[in-house]
Amino acid sequence: MKSVNKTTILNKIRLSGSISRADIAKETGITPPTVSSIVKELIDENLVKESHIGRSTGGRKPTLLQLKEDGYYVIGIDAGSKIIKGIVCDLVGQIHSRAEAEIWPNITKEKFLDCLVTVVEQLLTKDQHDTGKVLGIGVAMHGVIDIETGTSLSSVNSGLINVPIKQTLENKFGLPVKVENNSRAMALGEFWFGNENAVKRFAVINIGRGVGSGLIVDNKLIHGAQGVTGEIGHTTISLEGERCSCGNIGCFETFVTGDAIVRRAKRMIPTAPENLTAEEVYRLAKQGEKQYIHILEETGRLIGIGIVNFIHTVNPDKIILSGGVMKSKEIIFPIIKKTIHERVLIDKLREETIIEVSKLGDDITVLGAAALWLNDLFY
Ligand SMILES: [Zn+2]
Repeated sequence: MKSVNKTTILNKIRLSGSISRADIAKETGITPPTVSSIVKELIDENLVKESHIGRSTGGRKPTLLQLKEDGYYVIGIDAGSKIIKGIVCDLVGQIHSRAEAEIWPNITKEKFLDCLVTVVEQLLTKDQHDTGKVLGIGVAMHGVIDIETGTSLSSVNSGLINVPIKQTLENKFGLPVKVENNSRAMALGEFWFGNENAVKRFAVINIGRGVGSGLIVDNKLIHGAQGVTGEIGHTTISLEGERCSCGNIGCFETFVTGDAIVRRAKRMIPTAPENLTAEEVYRLAKQGEKQYIHILEETGRLIGIGIVNFIHTVNPDKIILSGGVMKSKEIIFPIIKKTIHERVLIDKLREETIIEVSKLGDDITVLGAAALWLNDLFY
């Protein structure tokens, strides 16, 4: 819908913070008259505003252009397996209101959709802004999603199949809805709000209750022919081992999720308590308990192996690691990096592939869900 020049100028303004018309022309190579007419369009569309806060070099202060952050709002929903969290945020990811609803194991499709509707209802009631300014609703959910129909096809953790999320919310609220896999939404969250916009081939690997990844190439999320790009949790890393929720044996995720860490600890440590959790494993390891440190180091090595497979398949410029298991980064991240270092094919991969742990915290998924609409607006 937008011309290349318009996209370029809009993103130049967004990424610069504030910039003059003259500098846009200089930095993009677009002629000054074209810059002026496109900027006028963007101002009319409520996306850009003028400000006069720029530094003056004598005489009149220059007019600078900024993103009109409150020109539009988006709703982001993180439909987890225990809780549905929702936010209203503006174009720069500032969160204006929140709502949430707890869900429970073996919840029915109907009840799940009721909870989802309740969260959106609360957000729209709480939010004092003009509903006309809400661009749309983005929903992130674990499992396989049909993004065309906005249906959650299968989410093993909740046991739900064929949930018509988009259809239900659109009928109820009259706002457009996008539904996306949670790891992909996380990738968008990092991409938009973690300053990763300049990275050409960018990936987030999410290691929590499950394992997944999201890949963004040239500003676009990659889905693949059947929407399973990035399902690294279900790549096989052992011919033996436990049966995965997907039915296969030896999947990457059966070795590295929070539950997998607990199972390994119970198997290896005779004194491990029956109600052990992954958080407790980390706490004990931090206290210097050698056996628990060893469990996490082994987890780091296994995560490293999975990431090497990912690097060799996708060859991204940058990978951000996210999810609950990465909260123990102090212990596992050095081992992950060491394993990758030892196993990648060539020196350039060792030297140039950037691997970091997310700094965005628990809001990354809701922000990513909201960013489903930003990606549409800006590219
Ligand atoms: Zn599997």
